[in-house]
Amino acid sequence: MDEILHTESLSQPKNPRTTEKHEIIFENVSFSYAEQEVDALSRVSFSAEENQITAIVGPSGGGKSTIAHLIPRFFDVTEGSIRIGGVDIRHMNTNYLMEKVSFVFQDVFLFKQSIMENIRMGNQNATNEQVIAAAKAAQCQEFIEKLHNKYDTIIGTKGIHLSGGEQQRIAIARAIVKNAPIIILDEATAFSDPENEHLIQSAFKKLMHGKTVVMIAHRLSTIRSANKIVVIDKGHLIEQGTHDKLLAKEGKYFTMWNMYVKMLDWKINRKGGETNA
Ligand code: ADP
Ligand code: MG
Repeated sequence: MDEILHTESLSQPKNPRTTEKHEIIFENVSFSYAEQEVDALSRVSFSAEENQITAIVGPSGGGKSTIAHLIPRFFDVTEGSIRIGGVDIRHMNTNYLMEKVSFVFQDVFLFKQSIMENIRMGNQNATNEQVIAAAKAAQCQEFIEKLHNKYDTIIGTKGIHLSGGEQQRIAIARAIVKNAPIIILDEATAFSDPENEHLIQSAFKKLMHGKTVVMIAHRLSTIRSANKIVVIDKGHLIEQGTHDKLLAKEGKYFTMWNMYVKMLDWKINRKGGETNA
């Protein structure tokens, strides 16, 4: 949050443009953080289509989260361009762009306010009924009902503890109530309990329906069915395609997938069948 609040305000266009289409195109995008010597991203080109899930995978530090942060213009590209519906995002008003994009990031920001208000933050015009519908879709209803003050429970007060998975589902409810056409998910690393994991996956499904989705996933099982998988390593896009196409190529994704499958086998054998991956 600090990072976002303290970022220099970005330049606003003189003649702001709008768009009704929401496919995202990265064209030769390079980016480096101010204090960094090597580029975090180097000439990255790909598209994320409407009504599709585009997954981004690759080793840690490769530049996946940087891609996610460039779409809502937390930073501007150093070279190249990002277009939404054919319009360079630098030609859109930043507030307009923010309305187009919902993101669920690794770190969830909850405020010391009621659960109702924390979810409504996604859309200040949402009615209580709409907030509750979003909470239900995001699989929050069950844990909220168990709280003494239900939706009026103030987050962060004494005796109120929400698990990582519950916090993330509140963030998903917030994104559902916002109902933006573009969804960016920067998936948290696996939660420890499988029950939560399953609920989060169902919540994601509700959120992603009919949107342009860019999903950064750590567990390859969750992106196996993505329409497109983009493999990023050390700031470079090294391959892209469907799961089956990429496996057939026997490149980086093939290696990652085999390692992942081995790791699952190892976990299953060690725990006697239990796994949350
Ligand atoms: P990934 O999400 O794939 O793990 P990131 O996009 O977070 O990778 O990071 C890509 C590179 O940029 C890494 O070398 C990382 O250390 C660096 N980086 C990420 N965020 C910042 C930042 N705010 N300031 C400086 N360097 C950063
Ligand atoms: Mg990351």
